Amino acid sequence: MSTLARSISLTIAVLVTILLLLAWPATLHQGVRAQVPYEGFPPERRIPVDKVLPHPGAMPGIPLVTYGLTDCMDGDVLVRAVFVDSDGSIDANLYSWNNPSDPGNPYGTQEVDTYMQRIRSQYDFSWSIWAPRYSKQVKFYVEKNVVAVPYEPILHASGDGVWERSALSTLLGIPVYDEFSGARQWAQNGLTVNQFGRSFNRSTVIFFVLNTSASQNFADGSTSFAYIGGPYGAVRRFDTFIFEDTTIHETGHLFWALDEYASWCSAHGGCSSDWWWDRDCLFDHTPVTNGNCESCNPGSVVCMMKYGSPTVCAYTAHQISWNGTALSSPVITNVKCPGCTSGGKLLVKGIGLDSTCSVFIDRVEYAAIYRSDTDDLAVKELYLQTATTYEFRVKRSGDGLVSDPYIKSF
Ligand SMILES: [Zn+2]
Repeated sequence: MSTLARSISLTIAVLVTILLLLAWPATLHQGVRAQVPYEGFPPERRIPVDKVLPHPGAMPGIPLVTYGLTDCMDGDVLVRAVFVDSDGSIDANLYSWNNPSDPGNPYGTQEVDTYMQRIRSQYDFSWSIWAPRYSKQVKFYVEKNVVAVPYEPILHASGDGVWERSALSTLLGIPVYDEFSGARQWAQNGLTVNQFGRSFNRSTVIFFVLNTSASQNFADGSTSFAYIGGPYGAVRRFDTFIFEDTTIHETGHLFWALDEYASWCSAHGGCSSDWWWDRDCLFDHTPVTNGNCESCNPGSVVCMMKYGSPTVCAYTAHQISWNGTALSSPVITNVKCPGCTSGGKLLVKGIGLDSTCSVFIDRVEYAAIYRSDTDDLAVKELYLQTATTYEFRVKRSGDGLVSDPYIKSF
C-alpha cells in the first residue's frame, strides 16, 4: 500500500471512528429522551371527559329565562363547592372525606383543604389567565362546604337528584323538592350572602362526590357531569382527569360551553350544534356554533372543552361570552438554566417579551430582567432540582396577558 493510500485509509478510519463515536451516544441519548418528560407545550390528553346534560327547563334555540348566575363568564364569580358526605342513615356509609384510613386519600384530615387549594389555583391558571386574551376579566372565589347526606352519592344515577335535594335542603334550611330550583336559589343567595362577606357578579354550585377510582362511575355509568348553563355540576374524586382539571372543565359547561370531543359533539349537531341559547350579556347575539368539534373540523385545535387542555379556543370563548378574537399573548419558545441546580440564571426565550414581563415557575411569580440585546428574560440565582418537571409561564404586566405553560425538566 502506498503512503498516500495508507494515509487516505487512515483518515477514513479516523473519520468513521469519530462518526461512530458521535452517533453512538446520540442513539443512546435518544433512547433515554423518549422516557424523560417532554419539553414545551403540554400534550393533549385525548380521553373524553364527562357527561353533559341539557339545561333544565329549556329547549335549544328558544329564548331562555335566565337568573344572571352563569349567563356569561366575567367579573367576580362565586363557586359554592359542596363536598357531600354520606352519614349512613339511608345508604350504607361507604366513603368519607378527610378519612386517613381511606387508601384513596393521601392527604389525611387535610383532604378537602388540599383539593380546595388545587381547585383555586387551577381557576387562577386556567379561565382567569385566559380571559384577558379575549378582553375579559374573571376571578373565581371558591367557597368550601362539607355537607352530610343520608345517601352515598356515587351509588345513585346521575340526574336522579336525590342526594342533591338532601344537601340543598340542609344548605338552604328548607325542604327542597326540586334540585334545579334549589341549586339556583342557593347560588342566587350567594351573590350577596356567602363565606367571603362580599357580593359577586356570578354564582354557581359544584358538588364533589367520593369514589374509589376513575372506573367507579355513578349508577347509570355516568362520570362527572354538569348541566349546560347550570345550575350545578358534580365532580367525582377520581375521574378521567385530575380533580381540578375536571372541575374547570365542568365549570365551562356551567357557563354554556359545549364539549368538542367527537363522541359528544358528533351526536349533538357537530359543528353547527343547535345547543345554543341567547343571553342578554352576550357580546353579540349571533348563534354560537360548536366549530371546534373534532368530528367535523379537520383543523380542530386543542381546547379546554375538547379534552381538558389548558387553552381556551375561540369557539369556547364565544360560547362563554368572551370576544371571539384572541389577543396575542407572550409565547415561550425555549427555557434554559445552565447551572440552575447549584444557583444559576434562568433564561427564557420567546415571542412578545418586554420589560414588563415576569416569570412564573410552578405558579410562583419571579421578577425577571428583560435583556433587549438578546430579547430574552433572565431570572437570577435560581436553585432548581434535577429530574424534576417544572411549569413555566411568562406574564406581560403591560396588558396582563399570560403565556401558555411550557414544560421542562433539568
Ligand atoms: Zn364536558
